[in-house]
This record gives sequence, C-alpha cells and structure tokens, in this order.
Amino acid sequence: MTGNTVRLGRIFGIEIKLDYSWFIVFILTAWSLAGQYFPSMYPGWPRGVYWVMGAITAVLFFLSVLAHELAHSLVSQAFGVPVRDITLFIFGGAAKISEEPKTARGELLMALVGPLTSLVIAALFGLLWLVGGAVSPYLQALALWLAGINVSLGLFNLIPGFPLDGGRVFRAILWAITGNLRLATRIATGLGRLVASGFIFLGVWQIFGGNWTNGLWMAFIGWFLENAATVSYRRLALRDMLAGHTAREVMTSECQFIHRGLTLDVFVDRVLLPSGRRCFPVQEGGQLHGLLTLHRIKKVPRQQWESTRVEEVMIPRSELKAVSPGEELNVVFDRMTAEDVNQVLIIEDERLLGIVARDNLLNFIRTRAELGLR
Ligand SMILES: [Zn+2]
Repeated sequence: MTGNTVRLGRIFGIEIKLDYSWFIVFILTAWSLAGQYFPSMYPGWPRGVYWVMGAITAVLFFLSVLAHELAHSLVSQAFGVPVRDITLFIFGGAAKISEEPKTARGELLMALVGPLTSLVIAALFGLLWLVGGAVSPYLQALALWLAGINVSLGLFNLIPGFPLDGGRVFRAILWAITGNLRLATRIATGLGRLVASGFIFLGVWQIFGGNWTNGLWMAFIGWFLENAATVSYRRLALRDMLAGHTAREVMTSECQFIHRGLTLDVFVDRVLLPSGRRCFPVQEGGQLHGLLTLHRIKKVPRQQWESTRVEEVMIPRSELKAVSPGEELNVVFDRMTAEDVNQVLIIEDERLLGIVARDNLLNFIRTRAELGLR
C-alpha cells in the first residue's frame, strides 16, 4: 500500500496518508456537488460559486472522515494499543492498528467512538444549518449537505458487519459475553459476510430493476465488505496457527558472521553460494554492526558488486529489532507488522542466536497446513 499513498503529515503522532483512490472520490464529490446537487437545490447562484462551494464542501467532508478515524485512533491509544497511521481511501478511512484489542471494553469504546463522532459532527452542521441562514445562504447550503453525509457515515458504519465499526461493536459484546475473542471474531466475520452478501443481492436486484447507478454502488460496497471480512477471517486463522509456538522453533540459526569491508562479489562467490545459509550478521570485534540480506543484495546492480562493500548495503544495527527466543510467534508477527520490518534478530544474553524472517513464518504455516497440523 505504501507505493499508492501520499503523506500529509502527523496529528497526535499518527501519520496521515491519502491513498490515490481517495483523489477519485474527492473529485467526484466536488464535481457532483458543483455540477448537480447545488445547482438543483439552489438555482440562480453565479456559476463560479457552485465550484468553490463544491471544493470547500468536499474538503470539509474529508476533514469529517479524518475526525472519525482520529477518534478511533485516540481511544485505541488511550487503551494502550498503538496506531501507526491513518489512510484515507475510496470508502473513507482506515486506521492501521497494529495489535488485537486487549479488552472487550476498550474494543467496544474504540469502535463506537467513530460513528459517534460522525453523528456529533452531523449535529453540529445541523445546528449551523439552523442558524447559518442569518449569516449566508452558502453557509447554510454547505451545512445541510455535510450534516446529511455525516449522518450517513455514522449509520453506515454502525451496520453490524465485521470489520465495519458496528461489526466490531457486535464482536466486543460477544467477546464480553463468551470471554473468547477468537470465537467472537469467527461469529462476527461470519455475520460480516452475510451482510456483504445482502448488499450484493440488493445491488443485483436493483440493477435488474433498472436502477444501474445505485445497484452497482451497492454491489461494489458488498464486494468490498466481503473482501474485508474474508481478510479478517484469514488473519484470525493465521493467528490460530502461530499461537503457542515460539521464535526458537522457526528461526534460522547457524549464522555466519561476515566482515563489513567485504565486497559483494566476494561475499556471493565465497560465502553465500558455498554455505547455503541465509543469515549473515555483520560483526567485528564482538560487536554487531548490521545484517546482510539477499533482498538488500538484489537491489544492487550486478556490475556494481565489485565496488560495493557489505557495510553499504547491510541493514544497520539501529534499524534491526530483536526479540528473545521464547517469544510467541504471534508477538513476533505483530512486531514485524508494527515496525514494518521483514526480519527480527533473536537475541539471548546479548548473544545472537539467529533471525526470524517473514519467510520463516510463511514456511512454518505452509508446512503445517500441508501436513494438516495446527
Ligand atoms: Zn469507523
């Protein structure tokens, strides 16, 4: 996803990003407001005013969505679950929350606060609509549309299909009742798929009834929800497989220490190929300087291998994360996701035992799945 986003900046330490798909929504919103909605609701305004109004309203809509996601994020952080970034895309926003929630109460509040924020914003714009007429008819017009869209945003998100907010609320309640997060997630994602199918069914129904635009839009939302529910379910299945296993079981050990002054051509010919190993810590005088990975080497064009030294391409120690060998694989996986790294060092008593890369986790899951183990 990183390649398709534009960074906007930080609020409360949370990075705000725009997905490219969001620009389509922005332009469509501004366009339909300026070209259709405002002219039909308020005929007789100067032409340019419609466009300025369309643009301003679209920006305020964007800020409304951002406020919704920020509300989720701030409550999440208050309950000790860090938020890396918020990405705004075609269906609104998504806050990237790296871990599973810790308590049902925290999850419930975190999920509820988003739609609640949208409804409060709707009420504020409603108020502005009531009193704004005295100031300017433009202000009043803009307030009415924003009140309506924020009500829709709040209510849509309350639909109980996981991973929509309403689905999260549903899951938190199930979790509180059963005391079992996995069972609750399983039921909530199941309901999420059902809701998604409902949307698709209604969409197709409308298309057959001749209402193409609405029908396609409904079916599209259904398809999106179905996808999201499936992804959530897979993530849960992945967690189930990793649970109860430790880093020691999957790590690549028998690391071969290399010098940082080595050039890449010598490293590949004399060390990498004959050894068949995949773990190459760069160490000198008992001190770890970094880690050389195949991925890093591949980035250097072959003609430059002779003139490139290991220390120029290694991942420096400061960027390497470490866990202990007894750490559970779920935690290791969360760390990799949260820190956005592809491998972690396994260190015990200041000694490097090995590394765990994403490949290790994938192989572990694939092998167990093939053998029918869990
Ligand atoms: Zn939300």
